[in-house]
Amino acid sequence: MPEPTLRAVSARAAAKINLHLGVGAPGPDGFHPLATVYQAISLFSTITVTPADDWSVTCQAAPGIAVDQVPLDETNLALRAAKLLAERAGVTHPVNIHIAKGIPVAGGLAGGSADAAAALVACDALWGLDRPDLAELAAELGSDVPFCLVGGTARGLGRGEIVSPLPDPGRYDWVLLTFGEGLSTPEVYGEHDAIYDGLARPEPDLPDALIDALAAGSVTDLAAALSNDLQEASLSLRPALASPLRAGIDAGALAALVSGSGPTCLFLARDADHAASLAAELTSYGEVLTAHGPVAGAMVVES
Ligand code: ATP
Repeated sequence: MPEPTLRAVSARAAAKINLHLGVGAPGPDGFHPLATVYQAISLFSTITVTPADDWSVTCQAAPGIAVDQVPLDETNLALRAAKLLAERAGVTHPVNIHIAKGIPVAGGLAGGSADAAAALVACDALWGLDRPDLAELAAELGSDVPFCLVGGTARGLGRGEIVSPLPDPGRYDWVLLTFGEGLSTPEVYGEHDAIYDGLARPEPDLPDALIDALAAGSVTDLAAALSNDLQEASLSLRPALASPLRAGIDAGALAALVSGSGPTCLFLARDADHAASLAAELTSYGEVLTAHGPVAGAMVVES
């Protein structure tokens, strides 16, 4: 094994949104089969790994992001990622993991998964491993982690962990409305199952209209093709989301939908200027951010 360096390494990874989230009936293992299209957007977590005497994690959040919801113990996904890679690679040198968090927590934006992907990339570089199998480790850590490694726009099958890139030459400007109080992903899936109790659910698939809109770089066609099977469940658990979604459309958004398991609401704008004016219209409902996609996956940013 190569000797680890003594320097610190930073890597960043982006938040994800789901342009389409198709959810099937849970299998015997309780997991739901998914057919999703992910897009990485320009909200980032930066992870810095520094050789230390013991494993630890610290976190600092950008304004408006509730850092108190990030666990600083063994359950932190970035720490779990670093330890998993160390175990598989036979590394015995602990690190401090510092998370500079720019992704709202428990918002349906895969914030923890982005931290884990960035931690894998940073530790891989710090320890001089150059391992080609980070995607396999990512899938062990969580369904969204493989996409956070890859970034861009991609389909996700299985539980979302079977990722393949999609052609997406366009640029899309998004307004995100986030809330201090998140929604628990398992609770949202539970609510989804309660809504569909006794009803047949087709195998989830990917709509051609969405894939075609992305290939053509058409923002209006994309707006018409966005969908999220979990939106009804998120709205059932958080009925107050209905009014900002409506307000966004009234203010001229091309489309409005819940991001993943929510509660973050997404609004598609015509361009960056339109996103800025939409954002100004929505400030009374929560914390408003603007971002664009697609952006790249996890990468080393400074050493
Ligand atoms: P997803 O859409 O991937 O299910 P999410 O974006 O809705 O997740 P996260 O920001 O990943 O939500 O947070 C979900 C929970 O994960 C948090 O409430 C927290 O307890 C736990 N968690 C573990 N590690 C992290 C981390 N590094 N950052 C944020 N949350 C973490």
